[in-house]
Amino acid sequence: MAKPQVEIYDTTLRDGSQGEGINFSVADKLRIAEKLDAFGVHYIEGGWPGSNPKDIEFFAHAKKKKFKNARLAAFGSTRKKGVPVEADDQVGLLLDAATPVVTIYGKTSLLHVTEVLRCTPEENLAMIADTVRYLKDNGRFVIYDAEHAFDGYKLNAEYALATWQAAEKAGADFVVLCDTNGGCLPSEIAAITKTAFGKLNCKVGIHTHDDSGVAVANALAALDAGAVQVQGTVNGYGERTGNCNLISVIPLVHFKMGKPCVPAKSLPKLRELSLFVDEVANIRHNPRLPWVGTAAFSHKGGTHVNAVQKLAASYEHINPEAVGNQRNILVSDLAGRSNIVMKAQSLGFKLDNDTPELRQILDAVKQREHAGYEYEAAEGSLSLLIRAALRGDESPRFHIETYHVSMRRDQKESICEATVRVRVGDKLHHEVAEGDGPVNALDQALRKALSKPFPQLKSVLLTDYKVRILDRKATDEGAGEGGTAAKTRVLITSSDGKREWGTVGLSENIIEASLQALVDAIEFALWKR
Ligand SMILES: [Zn+2]
Repeated sequence: MAKPQVEIYDTTLRDGSQGEGINFSVADKLRIAEKLDAFGVHYIEGGWPGSNPKDIEFFAHAKKKKFKNARLAAFGSTRKKGVPVEADDQVGLLLDAATPVVTIYGKTSLLHVTEVLRCTPEENLAMIADTVRYLKDNGRFVIYDAEHAFDGYKLNAEYALATWQAAEKAGADFVVLCDTNGGCLPSEIAAITKTAFGKLNCKVGIHTHDDSGVAVANALAALDAGAVQVQGTVNGYGERTGNCNLISVIPLVHFKMGKPCVPAKSLPKLRELSLFVDEVANIRHNPRLPWVGTAAFSHKGGTHVNAVQKLAASYEHINPEAVGNQRNILVSDLAGRSNIVMKAQSLGFKLDNDTPELRQILDAVKQREHAGYEYEAAEGSLSLLIRAALRGDESPRFHIETYHVSMRRDQKESICEATVRVRVGDKLHHEVAEGDGPVNALDQALRKALSKPFPQLKSVLLTDYKVRILDRKATDEGAGEGGTAAKTRVLITSSDGKREWGTVGLSENIIEASLQALVDAIEFALWKR
Protein backbone atom coordinates (compact mmCIF):
# COMPACT_ATOMS: atom_id res chain seq x y z
CA MET A 1 0.00 0.00 0.00
CA ALA A 2 1.32 3.45 -0.90
CA LYS A 3 2.13 5.65 2.05
CA PRO A 4 -0.37 8.50 2.42
CA GLN A 5 0.82 11.88 1.31
CA VAL A 6 1.90 14.33 3.98
CA GLU A 7 0.54 17.80 3.43
CA ILE A 8 2.66 20.83 4.33
CA TYR A 9 0.74 23.70 5.87
CA ASP A 10 2.83 26.85 6.10
CA THR A 11 1.98 29.44 8.72
CA THR A 12 5.09 31.63 8.40
CA LEU A 13 2.90 34.59 7.49
CA ARG A 14 0.62 34.18 10.53
CA ASP A 15 2.10 32.20 13.46
CA GLY A 16 5.64 32.89 12.20
CA SER A 17 5.07 36.63 12.08
CA GLN A 18 4.44 36.59 15.85
CA GLY A 19 8.13 35.86 16.35
CA GLU A 20 10.37 38.40 18.02
CA GLY A 21 11.98 40.75 15.51
CA ILE A 22 9.77 39.63 12.63
CA ASN A 23 7.68 42.22 10.90
CA PHE A 24 6.42 41.55 7.38
CA SER A 25 5.01 44.27 5.14
CA VAL A 26 2.16 43.34 2.80
CA ALA A 27 4.70 43.30 -0.05
CA ASP A 28 6.93 40.93 1.94
CA LYS A 29 4.02 38.60 2.58
CA LEU A 30 3.07 38.47 -1.08
CA ARG A 31 6.64 37.68 -2.11
CA ILE A 32 6.94 34.92 0.47
CA ALA A 33 3.57 33.47 -0.56
CA GLU A 34 4.71 33.35 -4.20
CA LYS A 35 7.93 31.64 -3.20
CA LEU A 36 6.14 29.05 -1.04
CA ASP A 37 3.69 28.34 -3.84
CA ALA A 38 6.49 27.83 -6.35
CA PHE A 39 8.24 25.52 -3.87
CA GLY A 40 5.10 23.41 -3.63
CA VAL A 41 3.66 23.59 -0.12
CA HIS A 42 0.00 22.60 0.04
CA TYR A 43 -1.40 25.44 2.14
CA ILE A 44 -0.29 29.00 2.83
CA GLU A 45 -1.87 30.63 5.85
CA GLY A 46 -1.81 34.31 4.97
CA GLY A 47 -2.93 35.85 8.24
CA TRP A 48 -5.77 36.60 10.58
CA PRO A 49 -8.11 39.13 8.94
CA GLY A 50 -9.91 39.65 12.25
CA SER A 51 -6.75 40.72 14.05
CA ASN A 52 -5.30 43.47 11.89
CA PRO A 53 -5.94 45.59 8.77
CA LYS A 54 -2.59 44.58 7.24
CA ASP A 55 -3.85 41.00 6.89
CA ILE A 56 -7.10 42.19 5.31
CA GLU A 57 -5.01 44.11 2.78
CA PHE A 58 -2.88 41.03 2.15
CA PHE A 59 -5.93 38.93 1.29
CA ALA A 60 -7.29 41.68 -0.98
CA HIS A 61 -4.06 41.48 -3.01
CA ALA A 62 -3.68 37.70 -2.76
CA LYS A 63 -7.20 37.24 -4.13
CA LYS A 64 -5.97 38.49 -7.51
CA LYS A 65 -3.01 36.13 -7.65
CA LYS A 66 -3.06 32.69 -9.17
CA PHE A 67 -1.35 30.07 -7.06
CA LYS A 68 -0.11 26.96 -8.84
CA ASN A 69 0.35 24.52 -6.01
CA ALA A 70 -0.84 25.97 -2.75
CA ARG A 71 -4.26 26.84 -1.42
CA LEU A 72 -4.51 30.02 0.55
CA ALA A 73 -5.95 29.86 4.07
CA ALA A 74 -7.37 32.61 6.27
CA PHE A 75 -7.01 32.06 10.01
CA GLY A 76 -9.45 32.96 12.76
CA SER A 77 -11.29 31.66 15.78
CA THR A 78 -14.64 30.10 16.54
CA ARG A 79 -17.56 32.47 17.06
CA LYS A 80 -17.77 34.42 20.30
CA LYS A 81 -19.86 32.99 23.14
CA GLY A 82 -23.49 34.02 23.06
CA VAL A 83 -23.29 35.45 19.53
CA PRO A 84 -24.97 33.75 16.56
CA VAL A 85 -22.28 32.77 14.05
CA GLU A 86 -23.82 34.82 11.20
CA ALA A 87 -23.59 37.92 13.40
CA ASP A 88 -19.96 37.41 14.42
CA ASP A 89 -17.78 40.07 12.72
CA GLN A 90 -14.57 38.12 13.05
CA VAL A 91 -16.13 35.10 11.28
CA GLY A 92 -17.55 37.43 8.62
CA LEU A 93 -14.05 38.75 7.88
CA LEU A 94 -12.89 35.17 7.32
CA LEU A 95 -15.43 34.81 4.51
CA ASP A 96 -14.54 38.26 3.14
CA ALA A 97 -10.95 37.09 2.74
CA ALA A 98 -12.32 34.89 -0.09
CA THR A 99 -9.79 32.07 0.43
CA PRO A 100 -10.56 28.47 -0.55
CA VAL A 101 -9.46 27.31 2.92
CA VAL A 102 -10.42 28.67 6.33
CA THR A 103 -8.65 27.52 9.49
CA ILE A 104 -10.26 28.23 12.82
CA TYR A 105 -9.04 27.45 16.28
CA GLY A 106 -11.13 26.47 19.25
CA LYS A 107 -10.67 25.28 22.80
CA THR A 108 -9.95 21.66 23.74
CA SER A 109 -9.03 22.18 27.33
CA LEU A 110 -11.80 22.28 29.91
CA LEU A 111 -9.57 24.49 32.03
CA HIS A 112 -9.43 27.11 29.28
CA VAL A 113 -13.16 26.83 28.66
CA THR A 114 -14.10 27.54 32.24
CA GLU A 115 -11.24 29.85 33.27
CA VAL A 116 -10.33 31.76 30.09
CA LEU A 117 -13.46 31.69 27.94
CA ARG A 118 -15.66 31.59 31.04
CA CYS A 119 -18.45 29.69 29.38
CA THR A 120 -20.10 26.30 29.84
CA PRO A 121 -18.56 23.18 28.30
CA GLU A 122 -21.70 22.83 26.14
CA GLU A 123 -21.48 26.40 24.81
CA ASN A 124 -17.86 25.75 23.73
CA LEU A 125 -18.96 22.66 21.80
CA ALA A 126 -21.69 24.70 20.13
CA MET A 127 -19.23 27.47 19.25
CA ILE A 128 -16.98 24.93 17.48
CA ALA A 129 -19.81 23.15 15.64
CA ASP A 130 -21.66 26.33 14.61
CA THR A 131 -18.55 27.95 13.17
CA VAL A 132 -17.36 24.88 11.26
CA ARG A 133 -20.84 24.26 9.84
CA TYR A 134 -21.29 27.90 8.82
CA LEU A 135 -17.95 27.96 6.97
CA LYS A 136 -18.74 24.64 5.29
CA ASP A 137 -22.15 25.96 4.23
CA ASN A 138 -20.29 28.84 2.63
CA GLY A 139 -18.22 26.45 0.54
CA ARG A 140 -14.94 26.54 2.44
CA PHE A 141 -12.47 23.73 3.05
CA VAL A 142 -12.34 23.88 6.83
CA ILE A 143 -9.36 23.07 9.01
CA TYR A 144 -10.06 22.97 12.72
CA ASP A 145 -7.02 23.77 14.90
CA ALA A 146 -7.58 22.25 18.32
CA GLU A 147 -5.75 24.59 20.68
CA HIS A 148 -4.07 22.99 23.72
CA ALA A 149 -5.14 19.63 22.27
CA PHE A 150 -2.59 17.55 24.15
CA ASP A 151 -2.66 19.44 27.46
CA GLY A 152 -6.46 19.44 27.27
CA TYR A 153 -6.55 15.72 26.57
CA LYS A 154 -4.28 14.99 29.53
CA LEU A 155 -6.62 17.02 31.75
CA ASN A 156 -9.91 15.54 30.55
CA ALA A 157 -9.72 13.06 27.69
CA GLU A 158 -13.44 12.66 27.30
CA TYR A 159 -14.12 16.35 26.91
CA ALA A 160 -11.14 16.87 24.57
CA LEU A 161 -12.46 14.15 22.26
CA ALA A 162 -15.93 15.69 22.40
CA THR A 163 -14.56 19.02 21.09
CA TRP A 164 -12.73 17.33 18.19
CA GLN A 165 -15.79 15.26 17.35
CA ALA A 166 -17.93 18.41 17.41
CA ALA A 167 -15.70 19.85 14.66
CA GLU A 168 -15.67 16.59 12.71
CA LYS A 169 -19.46 16.07 12.89
CA ALA A 170 -20.03 19.65 11.74
CA GLY A 171 -18.05 18.82 8.60
CA ALA A 172 -14.44 19.85 9.32
CA ASP A 173 -12.06 18.48 6.68
CA PHE A 174 -9.18 18.33 9.14
CA VAL A 175 -8.81 18.30 12.91
CA VAL A 176 -5.32 19.55 13.70
CA LEU A 177 -3.97 18.80 17.16
CA CYS A 178 -1.93 21.68 18.57
CA ASP A 179 0.77 21.51 21.22
CA THR A 180 0.20 25.18 21.87
CA ASN A 181 2.52 25.49 24.87
CA GLY A 182 5.20 23.27 23.34
CA GLY A 183 5.63 21.22 26.50
CA CYS A 184 4.76 17.68 25.40
CA LEU A 185 7.02 14.71 24.76
CA PRO A 186 7.09 12.83 21.43
CA SER A 187 5.73 9.70 23.15
CA GLU A 188 2.70 11.62 24.50
CA ILE A 189 2.10 13.22 21.11
CA ALA A 190 2.21 9.81 19.44
CA ALA A 191 -0.22 8.17 21.88
CA ILE A 192 -2.80 10.98 21.83
CA THR A 193 -2.62 11.43 18.04
CA LYS A 194 -3.16 7.69 17.64
CA THR A 195 -6.29 7.87 19.79
CA ALA A 196 -7.64 10.85 17.84
CA PHE A 197 -6.88 9.11 14.55
CA GLY A 198 -8.85 6.07 15.69
CA LYS A 199 -11.87 8.06 16.86
CA LEU A 200 -12.22 10.64 14.08
CA ASN A 201 -13.50 10.09 10.56
CA CYS A 202 -11.85 13.21 9.16
CA LYS A 203 -8.12 13.65 8.55
CA VAL A 204 -5.80 14.56 11.41
CA GLY A 205 -2.99 17.12 11.39
CA ILE A 206 -0.31 18.31 13.80
CA HIS A 207 0.78 21.81 14.92
CA THR A 208 3.68 22.00 17.35
CA HIS A 209 5.73 24.67 19.10
CA ASP A 210 9.40 24.40 20.00
CA ASP A 211 9.44 25.48 23.64
CA SER A 212 11.07 22.20 24.68
CA GLY A 213 13.22 21.86 21.57
CA VAL A 214 11.23 18.91 20.21
CA ALA A 215 8.71 20.55 17.85
CA VAL A 216 10.05 18.72 14.80
CA ALA A 217 10.32 15.42 16.68
CA ASN A 218 6.76 15.87 17.95
CA ALA A 219 5.48 16.51 14.42
CA LEU A 220 7.18 13.34 13.16
CA ALA A 221 5.75 11.34 16.07
CA ALA A 222 2.26 12.50 15.08
CA LEU A 223 2.86 11.59 11.43
CA ASP A 224 3.85 8.10 12.53
CA ALA A 225 0.62 7.88 14.53
CA GLY A 226 -1.68 8.73 11.63
CA ALA A 227 -1.52 12.50 11.07
CA VAL A 228 -1.23 13.55 7.42
CA GLN A 229 -0.71 17.30 7.71
CA VAL A 230 2.11 19.23 9.39
CA GLN A 231 1.73 22.89 10.26
CA GLY A 232 4.87 24.91 10.75
CA THR A 233 6.97 27.82 9.59
CA VAL A 234 10.03 28.43 7.44
CA ASN A 235 13.15 28.42 9.65
CA GLY A 236 10.93 27.78 12.69
CA TYR A 237 9.84 31.40 13.12
CA GLY A 238 7.22 31.91 15.78
CA GLU A 239 6.37 33.16 19.23
CA ARG A 240 8.79 32.46 22.09
CA THR A 241 11.23 29.80 20.84
CA GLY A 242 9.31 29.33 17.62
CA ASN A 243 7.15 26.88 15.70
CA CYS A 244 7.93 23.52 14.14
CA ASN A 245 10.56 24.21 11.46
CA LEU A 246 9.25 23.10 8.05
CA ILE A 247 12.75 23.42 6.61
CA SER A 248 13.63 20.39 8.77
CA VAL A 249 10.30 18.59 8.48
CA ILE A 250 10.19 18.59 4.67
CA PRO A 251 13.48 16.71 4.07
CA LEU A 252 12.77 14.41 7.04
CA VAL A 253 9.42 13.37 5.58
CA HIS A 254 10.84 13.06 2.08
CA PHE A 255 14.19 11.38 2.68
CA LYS A 256 13.90 9.67 6.05
CA MET A 257 10.25 8.65 6.27
CA GLY A 258 10.01 8.07 2.52
CA LYS A 259 6.55 9.61 2.33
CA PRO A 260 5.44 11.82 -0.55
CA CYS A 261 5.15 15.51 0.40
CA VAL A 262 6.40 18.45 -1.72
CA PRO A 263 7.49 17.78 -5.35
CA ALA A 264 10.86 15.95 -5.43
CA LYS A 265 12.33 18.63 -7.68
CA SER A 266 11.81 21.23 -4.93
CA LEU A 267 14.10 19.56 -2.40
CA PRO A 268 17.30 20.99 -3.97
CA LYS A 269 15.73 24.43 -3.53
CA LEU A 270 15.26 23.99 0.21
CA ARG A 271 18.27 26.08 1.23
CA GLU A 272 17.27 28.79 -1.22
CA LEU A 273 13.78 28.97 0.34
CA SER A 274 15.29 29.19 3.83
CA LEU A 275 17.69 31.98 2.81
CA PHE A 276 15.03 33.87 0.89
CA VAL A 277 12.63 34.07 3.82
CA ASP A 278 15.40 35.16 6.22
CA GLU A 279 16.49 37.79 3.75
CA VAL A 280 12.97 39.18 3.35
CA ALA A 281 12.52 39.12 7.14
CA ASN A 282 15.88 40.89 7.47
CA ILE A 283 17.20 38.17 9.75
CA ARG A 284 20.70 36.77 9.63
CA HIS A 285 20.67 33.18 8.42
CA ASN A 286 21.53 30.77 11.22
CA PRO A 287 24.63 28.84 10.12
CA ARG A 288 23.75 25.96 12.46
CA LEU A 289 20.30 25.27 10.99
CA PRO A 290 20.02 21.54 10.31
CA TRP A 291 20.00 20.62 6.60
CA VAL A 292 20.40 24.13 5.19
CA GLY A 293 22.84 26.05 7.43
CA THR A 294 26.28 26.88 6.06
CA ALA A 295 27.75 24.78 8.86
CA ALA A 296 25.45 21.79 8.27
CA PHE A 297 28.01 20.08 6.06
CA SER A 298 31.19 21.82 7.17
CA HIS A 299 34.17 19.63 7.87
CA LYS A 300 37.41 20.67 9.35
CA GLY A 301 39.52 18.77 6.90
CA GLY A 302 43.18 17.85 6.98
CA THR A 303 45.72 18.80 4.36
CA HIS A 304 44.97 16.28 1.65
CA VAL A 305 41.82 17.51 0.02
CA ASN A 306 41.04 14.25 -1.72
CA ALA A 307 41.19 12.21 1.43
CA VAL A 308 39.13 14.74 3.34
CA GLN A 309 36.48 14.69 0.70
CA LYS A 310 36.23 10.93 0.92
CA LEU A 311 36.14 11.08 4.69
CA ALA A 312 33.62 13.94 4.72
CA ALA A 313 31.09 11.93 2.76
CA SER A 314 31.28 9.19 5.33
CA TYR A 315 30.46 11.71 8.04
CA GLU A 316 27.31 13.00 6.33
CA HIS A 317 23.80 11.66 6.81
CA ILE A 318 22.82 12.78 3.31
CA ASN A 319 24.32 14.33 0.19
CA PRO A 320 24.27 18.10 0.89
CA GLU A 321 23.28 18.91 -2.69
CA ALA A 322 20.01 17.02 -2.21
CA VAL A 323 18.78 20.01 -0.18
CA GLY A 324 20.68 22.67 -2.12
CA ASN A 325 23.50 22.87 0.40
CA GLN A 326 27.15 22.16 -0.12
CA ARG A 327 30.06 20.55 1.61
CA ASN A 328 32.28 23.17 3.11
CA ILE A 329 35.78 21.95 2.45
CA LEU A 330 36.30 23.38 -0.95
CA VAL A 331 33.38 25.13 -2.50
CA SER A 332 32.22 22.58 -4.98
CA ASP A 333 32.44 24.08 -8.44
CA LEU A 334 29.78 21.71 -9.69
CA ALA A 335 27.31 22.66 -6.97
CA GLY A 336 27.88 26.36 -7.60
CA ARG A 337 27.35 25.85 -11.30
CA SER A 338 24.11 23.92 -11.10
CA ASN A 339 22.83 26.38 -8.52
CA ILE A 340 23.37 29.32 -10.84
CA VAL A 341 21.96 27.44 -13.81
CA MET A 342 18.83 26.59 -11.83
CA LYS A 343 18.41 30.18 -10.66
CA ALA A 344 19.04 31.67 -14.11
CA GLN A 345 16.49 29.33 -15.66
CA SER A 346 13.89 30.27 -13.08
CA LEU A 347 14.51 33.93 -13.98
CA GLY A 348 13.77 33.15 -17.61
CA PHE A 349 17.28 32.93 -19.07
CA LYS A 350 18.08 30.25 -21.62
CA LEU A 351 21.21 28.85 -20.10
CA ASP A 352 22.62 25.43 -19.26
CA ASN A 353 25.77 23.78 -17.93
CA ASP A 354 27.53 24.24 -21.27
CA THR A 355 26.90 27.96 -21.63
CA PRO A 356 30.38 29.48 -22.05
CA GLU A 357 29.55 32.58 -19.98
CA LEU A 358 28.61 30.44 -16.97
CA ARG A 359 32.14 30.59 -15.55
CA GLN A 360 32.10 34.39 -15.68
CA ILE A 361 28.66 34.61 -14.03
CA LEU A 362 29.67 32.18 -11.32
CA ASP A 363 32.87 34.11 -10.56
CA ALA A 364 31.02 37.41 -10.47
CA VAL A 365 28.34 36.08 -8.09
CA LYS A 366 30.89 34.40 -5.83
CA GLN A 367 33.06 37.48 -5.68
CA ARG A 368 30.14 39.79 -4.96
CA GLU A 369 28.60 37.48 -2.35
CA HIS A 370 31.98 37.30 -0.70
CA ALA A 371 32.07 41.08 -0.61
CA GLY A 372 28.67 41.11 1.14
CA TYR A 373 26.06 41.22 -1.61
CA GLU A 374 23.15 38.82 -1.25
CA TYR A 375 21.11 37.67 -4.20
CA GLU A 376 18.52 35.30 -2.74
CA ALA A 377 15.91 38.08 -2.51
CA ALA A 378 17.44 40.36 -5.15
CA GLU A 379 16.44 38.61 -8.35
CA GLY A 380 16.37 41.98 -10.16
CA SER A 381 20.06 42.63 -9.51
CA LEU A 382 20.96 39.01 -10.26
CA SER A 383 19.11 39.16 -13.59
CA LEU A 384 21.05 42.30 -14.56
CA LEU A 385 24.31 40.63 -13.64
CA ILE A 386 23.51 37.54 -15.73
CA ARG A 387 22.31 39.71 -18.60
CA ALA A 388 25.53 41.70 -18.56
CA ALA A 389 27.57 38.50 -18.80
CA LEU A 390 25.43 37.01 -21.57
CA ARG A 391 25.12 40.09 -23.72
CA GLY A 392 28.52 41.60 -23.09
CA ASP A 393 28.48 45.20 -24.10
CA GLU A 394 24.83 46.06 -23.39
CA SER A 395 25.07 49.54 -21.96
CA PRO A 396 22.77 50.82 -19.22
CA ARG A 397 19.75 52.85 -20.35
CA PHE A 398 20.80 55.80 -18.22
CA HIS A 399 23.84 57.05 -16.42
CA ILE A 400 24.01 59.18 -13.27
CA GLU A 401 26.58 61.89 -13.89
CA THR A 402 26.41 63.59 -10.50
CA TYR A 403 24.17 63.67 -7.45
CA HIS A 404 23.99 65.63 -4.26
CA VAL A 405 22.04 64.97 -1.06
CA SER A 406 21.62 67.41 1.78
CA MET A 407 19.63 67.72 4.95
CA ARG A 408 18.71 70.76 6.97
CA ARG A 409 16.73 71.18 10.10
CA ASP A 410 14.90 74.20 11.48
CA GLN A 411 12.71 74.46 14.59
CA LYS A 412 9.76 72.73 12.97
CA GLU A 413 11.00 69.99 10.72
CA SER A 414 13.92 68.42 8.94
CA ILE A 415 14.03 68.48 5.17
CA CYS A 416 16.11 66.35 2.85
CA GLU A 417 16.84 67.49 -0.63
CA ALA A 418 18.47 65.66 -3.52
CA THR A 419 19.77 66.82 -6.88
CA VAL A 420 20.60 64.46 -9.72
CA ARG A 421 22.05 64.89 -13.16
CA VAL A 422 21.26 61.92 -15.38
CA ARG A 423 22.39 61.25 -18.92
CA VAL A 424 20.06 59.38 -21.27
CA GLY A 425 21.60 59.03 -24.72
CA ASP A 426 23.04 62.45 -25.43
CA LYS A 427 20.50 64.36 -23.31
CA LEU A 428 21.09 65.55 -19.75
CA HIS A 429 18.23 65.67 -17.26
CA HIS A 430 18.70 67.70 -14.14
CA GLU A 431 16.17 67.54 -11.28
CA VAL A 432 15.76 68.48 -7.62
CA ALA A 433 13.35 66.85 -5.16
CA GLU A 434 12.59 66.82 -1.47
CA GLY A 435 11.85 63.73 0.59
CA ASP A 436 11.20 62.34 4.08
CA GLY A 437 14.77 61.15 4.21
CA PRO A 438 17.89 61.24 2.05
CA VAL A 439 17.07 58.02 0.21
CA ASN A 440 13.48 59.05 -0.40
CA ALA A 441 14.66 62.43 -1.75
CA LEU A 442 17.15 60.72 -4.04
CA ASP A 443 14.50 58.30 -5.27
CA GLN A 444 12.11 61.20 -6.00
CA ALA A 445 14.74 63.21 -7.87
CA LEU A 446 15.83 60.21 -9.91
CA ARG A 447 12.26 59.36 -10.89
CA LYS A 448 11.55 62.97 -11.81
CA ALA A 449 14.60 63.06 -14.06
CA LEU A 450 13.82 59.72 -15.72
CA SER A 451 10.06 60.03 -16.08
CA LYS A 452 10.40 62.26 -19.17
CA PRO A 453 12.52 59.90 -21.28
CA PHE A 454 10.83 56.83 -19.72
CA PRO A 455 7.16 57.58 -18.97
CA GLN A 456 6.58 53.87 -18.22
CA LEU A 457 8.40 54.38 -14.90
CA LYS A 458 5.37 56.24 -13.52
CA SER A 459 3.75 52.95 -12.48
CA VAL A 460 6.89 51.68 -10.75
CA LEU A 461 6.92 52.11 -6.99
CA LEU A 462 9.38 51.39 -4.26
CA THR A 463 7.40 49.15 -1.90
CA ASP A 464 9.99 48.19 0.66
CA TYR A 465 13.42 49.25 1.85
CA LYS A 466 15.65 47.32 4.21
CA VAL A 467 19.07 48.07 5.60
CA ARG A 468 21.51 45.63 7.16
CA ILE A 469 24.83 46.57 8.70
CA LEU A 470 27.24 43.71 8.07
CA ASP A 471 29.83 42.87 10.67
CA ARG A 472 33.32 43.33 9.43
CA LYS A 473 34.07 39.66 9.40
CA ALA A 474 31.11 38.98 7.13
CA THR A 475 32.86 40.87 4.36
CA ASP A 476 36.17 40.30 2.64
CA GLU A 477 38.05 43.21 4.13
CA GLY A 478 38.38 44.70 7.53
CA ALA A 479 38.79 41.49 9.53
CA GLY A 480 41.01 42.47 12.40
CA GLU A 481 41.53 45.94 10.96
CA GLY A 482 40.39 48.64 13.33
CA GLY A 483 40.11 51.36 10.69
CA THR A 484 37.75 49.80 8.18
CA ALA A 485 34.11 50.87 8.38
CA ALA A 486 31.37 48.25 8.43
CA LYS A 487 29.48 47.77 5.19
CA THR A 488 25.83 48.50 4.67
CA ARG A 489 23.65 46.30 2.51
CA VAL A 490 20.42 47.74 1.20
CA LEU A 491 17.61 45.61 -0.18
CA ILE A 492 14.84 47.35 -2.09
CA THR A 493 11.57 45.84 -3.28
CA SER A 494 9.85 47.49 -6.24
CA SER A 495 6.54 46.86 -7.93
CA ASP A 496 4.85 47.85 -11.17
CA GLY A 497 1.45 46.68 -9.94
CA LYS A 498 1.82 43.30 -11.66
CA ARG A 499 5.05 41.92 -10.34
CA GLU A 500 7.58 42.66 -7.67
CA TRP A 501 11.34 42.41 -7.71
CA GLY A 502 14.19 42.90 -5.29
CA THR A 503 17.49 44.69 -5.89
CA VAL A 504 20.57 45.02 -3.73
CA GLY A 505 23.29 47.60 -3.12
CA LEU A 506 26.41 47.47 -0.95
CA SER A 507 28.75 50.16 0.27
CA GLU A 508 30.32 51.62 3.38
CA ASN A 509 28.02 54.56 2.70
CA ILE A 510 24.30 53.97 3.13
CA ILE A 511 23.32 56.53 0.46
CA GLU A 512 25.68 54.98 -2.04
CA ALA A 513 24.35 51.47 -1.28
CA SER A 514 20.76 52.72 -1.62
CA LEU A 515 21.52 54.41 -4.93
CA GLN A 516 22.98 51.19 -6.36
CA ALA A 517 19.82 49.30 -5.42
CA LEU A 518 17.61 52.09 -6.82
CA VAL A 519 19.50 52.18 -10.12
CA ASP A 520 19.21 48.38 -10.45
CA ALA A 521 15.48 48.59 -9.65
CA ILE A 522 14.89 51.15 -12.42
CA GLU A 523 17.18 49.42 -14.91
CA PHE A 524 15.31 46.16 -14.32
CA ALA A 525 11.94 47.91 -14.71
CA LEU A 526 13.00 49.44 -18.03
CA TRP A 527 14.23 46.14 -19.33
CA LYS A 528 11.34 43.92 -18.29
CA ARG A 529 8.55 46.12 -19.66
ZN1 LIG B 1 0.78 28.06 16.95
